[in-house]
Amino acid sequence: MEYIDKTILREEGEAIIKSFLNQVKEQDPYPQDLYDVFKSDRGGQSQKDLIEILLEEQNNHCCYCMRRLTVNNKITLEHLILRSITQQEEFNKYIKEERHTVLNDNVCLTEVNKVYQAEPPYPHVVAYQNLVASCDGKIITGAPAISCCNLRRGFEYIEPIVLYATIKNEVVYAFNGEVRWKEDKEYEKEEQLTMNILGLNDSILRMVRHIWSYINRCGLVKGDIDRDRGKLYGMLDEVSNEDFDLLLSFQSNDTYWNLLVDYDYFSTITYHSDN
Ligand SMILES: [Zn+2]
Repeated sequence: MEYIDKTILREEGEAIIKSFLNQVKEQDPYPQDLYDVFKSDRGGQSQKDLIEILLEEQNNHCCYCMRRLTVNNKITLEHLILRSITQQEEFNKYIKEERHTVLNDNVCLTEVNKVYQAEPPYPHVVAYQNLVASCDGKIITGAPAISCCNLRRGFEYIEPIVLYATIKNEVVYAFNGEVRWKEDKEYEKEEQLTMNILGLNDSILRMVRHIWSYINRCGLVKGDIDRDRGKLYGMLDEVSNEDFDLLLSFQSNDTYWNLLVDYDYFSTITYHSDN
């Protein structure tokens, strides 16, 4: 996982939101469905322009699973502070003094700030600082199931981890592809762990990272495996019986192989022997 620095393209990002809010300012207070109005603004162009900026600042990766995103992929907008929130008390959970982020100074609860203002804080349902680009959660393209990231999270609370400057070192990937956030408490149930709320320990995603970790540990590069996918048989003693068929899918099925390539971010990271 990578820290998303919202200061570099701030001017460009805020300009889109500012111009949108400026257009709706005659409606005082703001329309109830402010985010929906934003999505359809200028025939969807405002949203497209914003996504382009988000992709640039995220180096074309999904904010959570690190899949490679292109403007043609199904991209969804993730609200770090859930857009469903209407109560200040709920909003405040995202604004921590000990974890100061761009949200603290630039974003406010939409419900309490319903009239136009030219400067931040902007209403959280459309604030540039509160929006990041996510994949659509369909790991195998075209599959009906949503397995990870923004849409998998739904309306669950998680901390705005991608805005934490040290997140890269706090999220740990094991040799077997499992991922864990160091700050999650050990007593928490599996389904309460941040990485699990995001679906990042889904078996296919885990296998993708396991394969990349194996390639790294063997001193191979993708080209070696491209020429001879049979090299992945070397992983067999690391793979459980349940995962055996899944590994075979990566060897024999181009859809899975292309997925591995979409996640080449994981060819560059450090893995840990245990989790
Ligand atoms: Zn994703």
